[in-house]
Amino acid sequence: MSKDETLGEALRRQGITRRGFLKFCAATASMMALPPSMVPAIAAALEKAMRPSVIWLSFQECTGCTESLTRSHSPTVEGLIFDTISLDYHHTLQAASGSAAEAAREAAMEENYGKYILVVDGSIPTANPGYSTIAGISNKSMLLDTAKGAAAIVAVGTCAAYGGIPKAKPNPTGAVAVSDLIKDKPIINVSGCPPIPVVITGVLAHFLTFGTIPELDALGRPKAYYGQSIHDRCYRRPFYDKGLFANTFDDEGAKKGWCLYKLGCKGPTTYNACATTKWNEGTSFPIEAGHPCLGCSEPDFWDGGGFYKALSMPTEDITRAAVYAVGAGAAAGVALGAMNRAKKARAVKTHEKVTINDLEKGADDD
Ligand code: SF4
Repeated sequence: MSKDETLGEALRRQGITRRGFLKFCAATASMMALPPSMVPAIAAALEKAMRPSVIWLSFQECTGCTESLTRSHSPTVEGLIFDTISLDYHHTLQAASGSAAEAAREAAMEENYGKYILVVDGSIPTANPGYSTIAGISNKSMLLDTAKGAAAIVAVGTCAAYGGIPKAKPNPTGAVAVSDLIKDKPIINVSGCPPIPVVITGVLAHFLTFGTIPELDALGRPKAYYGQSIHDRCYRRPFYDKGLFANTFDDEGAKKGWCLYKLGCKGPTTYNACATTKWNEGTSFPIEAGHPCLGCSEPDFWDGGGFYKALSMPTEDITRAAVYAVGAGAAAGVALGAMNRAKKARAVKTHEKVTINDLEKGADDD
């Protein structure tokens, strides 16, 4: 693709129809919680957008984030957009290797200084610069150097966003998140293990369309995608509200698709879009496949795990159960019937931390 080619021209050259393009714009608007009336504006902006340079750095990671992005059944519009707008440097996807690859990174930085988007997956080891290097450069040095000319940084995956599995105790490499090292650039955390591809694309589309980063929550995640808990979007929620739970993975409740709370589901304390966006082109997501949510998009994933242990809330008396909070600013939406309505609405809106005492008081107030 020529550097002078607009995104619209490039997509047409790749065979994307106007209808397909508008469909993507409508889905993007909807995911960004924008009204349908914004679709023409989004389409017009994306049509004219020039090719932004994307430099993708992979540090302590498992390549799952890249796999997530590339594992589509067919070339999707969002996949093509992502391919089209990018990728001046990506270890896994680029053809160049060795010094040619590093030359590509340096050239992209120089040509697009102040304008390129830096995408990072993986955490950064700080205990010893030799723990992870690329072309003899430590991950930390490469991040600090490449971040200097970036317009914005997208921390893709929980490892880049919060440290993730490499940061799990005892954290032998001294793994840290991007935001622990970079303080002077806008950082968008697209957490998840792995993150949802359409969320990555949606964030980039937002940047292309509006020239700004999307509105973020207290944990640096785009609110449009992380504004609601899995529990609030879960199709098994009616079973939760009725107190109908699977107690084992193969009991009658499991077969009937009842709530997985007692099997350790972290949906009430996890904020992500997978319950609605799903995976494999909208086919399914873990809870739909019968597995409890592991909370992979939250900062305490992995150490906060206790993966198959139920959250510490009594489910026997479900009418008194309510929001149970974990982590910085993450309040969970659990059996909200026990809370008085004003408190409930405020907590959901602000991700306010709510304790069991609040709930009991709320129940009394009701
Ligand atoms: S606890 Fe888990 S399975 Fe049950 S309704 Fe909530 S998110 Fe769905």
